[in-house]
Amino acid sequence: GAGDIHAEVVVLGSGPGGYTAAFRAADLGKKVVLIEKNPTLGGVCLNVGCIPSKALLHVAKVITEAEEMGAHGVTFAKPQIDLDELRSFKDSVVGQLTGGLTGLAKARKVKTVKGTGQFTGANMIEITEGGKTTTVSFDQCIIAAGSEPVNLPFLPHDDERVIDSTGALELKDIPKRMLVLGGGIIGLEMACVYDALGSNVTIVELMDQIIPGADKDIIKPLHTRIKGRYENILLKTKVTGMEALKKGLKVTFEDAKGEMTTDTFDKVLVAVGRTPNGGKVNAAAAGVAVDERGFIAVDSQQRTGVPHIFAIGDLVGQPMLAHKAVHEGKVAAEVCAGHKRHFDAKLIPSVAYTDPEVAWCGVTETEAKAKGIPYEKGVFPWAASGKALSNGRSEGITKLLFNPEDQRVIGGCIVGINAGDLIAEVGLAIEMGADAVDLGHTIHAHPTLSETVNFAAEMFEGTITDLM
Ligand code: FAD
Repeated sequence: GAGDIHAEVVVLGSGPGGYTAAFRAADLGKKVVLIEKNPTLGGVCLNVGCIPSKALLHVAKVITEAEEMGAHGVTFAKPQIDLDELRSFKDSVVGQLTGGLTGLAKARKVKTVKGTGQFTGANMIEITEGGKTTTVSFDQCIIAAGSEPVNLPFLPHDDERVIDSTGALELKDIPKRMLVLGGGIIGLEMACVYDALGSNVTIVELMDQIIPGADKDIIKPLHTRIKGRYENILLKTKVTGMEALKKGLKVTFEDAKGEMTTDTFDKVLVAVGRTPNGGKVNAAAAGVAVDERGFIAVDSQQRTGVPHIFAIGDLVGQPMLAHKAVHEGKVAAEVCAGHKRHFDAKLIPSVAYTDPEVAWCGVTETEAKAKGIPYEKGVFPWAASGKALSNGRSEGITKLLFNPEDQRVIGGCIVGINAGDLIAEVGLAIEMGADAVDLGHTIHAHPTLSETVNFAAEMFEGTITDLM
């Protein structure tokens, strides 16, 4: 039947996947409706993810850089932090981007409907907002409802001292002692912010290294640096209980030997992963299968088991990253418009915007070893980079992995300041099928950190001559 509104393409959720898909479908001539329950467009990434965290990380970087200038003979006064001003800087960055999206939607005649959408059939979504319902009938649909933070059942609920990443970005106060539960990218980025603002940070991680997905040698410079700044980094340690006391949150830890200890913190940031929202849109009513964890399976054209319904972003699987969602959004929209597109990226880069940054793409050494993928490597330590030394930050490493048969680049890992920007060259090299000679013979400006990619290729080839 016909809904209150009819869409050729309806997009459920306006995160980076959803807004990209909606805009692309509209640009390709489709009549598009975009459904979003939040007051602003942009999803997790723009409102409570990538963007606000990077605004705060920039401030953190300036603070720590100023602190460390003392070693080069320049001393600044202790920073005065006005949390209200800092919060409004972050909010203004978010506001510019989410406001920009509203303008872009209008310009493309994408109709946005505010409310929570649920499927009521294979061609119908019902949207509820403040007791009112609107129905949207559709020819094709793209599900882009994203993910949310994982909750640990044994933690005290409704205690405002236990926060998730969204709470951490609200910057309510600067706790004296803060526990970050989970040593993954999101936890470490927020730790970096609160450390710079003056909190004493402890990280607790179940695995034997922080950022468990990355190579150990690449993580080492980050580990060494934060170990020197933070109160504690507890590895192979589990949080087994938490008690809300008046004086703080009393946390019980269990180490690898089964020994229990307790400690009390002013705030606990829970960053133990994100869970997909696939199970929350009543997909069953449309015949779309959702697994027990909440993921929706799709083919390389982003199609679910129901041919006119697509899914993209965090709810179709790892890695849960904005640029993956964007790419999938483009594929889904183009397929909706009848184009022969499919998702065939060779790699999706990962970046931790910590200090130093950690970035990798393609095959990692850990993965190559686990899967028996043959590789050889070229490693360039930044202690021999003129630019890194000039920055006073020579702890970085650039590592490239090559296929021993044809010397093509198959992976790269970089740790150091700006690693997140530097990894793009490695990604391009892999997508273009470049080999060690291509990277070694490409002239990089001197002195730059980008030279370290060039040098790592030359280290592999054995042709490096000038190290500084
Ligand atoms: P989301 O961004 O999750 O958006 C989904 C949208 O759908 C939301 O707006 C939600 O309100 C809406 N929605 C859900 N259900 C319904 C419904 N039933 N009806 C209506 N609307 C609904 N990734 C990076 O690549 N780089 C980073 O630096 C980075 N930093 C991050 C920092 C933090 C603190 C966090 C939490 C995440 C970060 N991420 C980062 C991950 C990134 O935010 C996600 O991968 C990305 O937002 C996923 O996009 P998406 O389109 O799948 O969905």
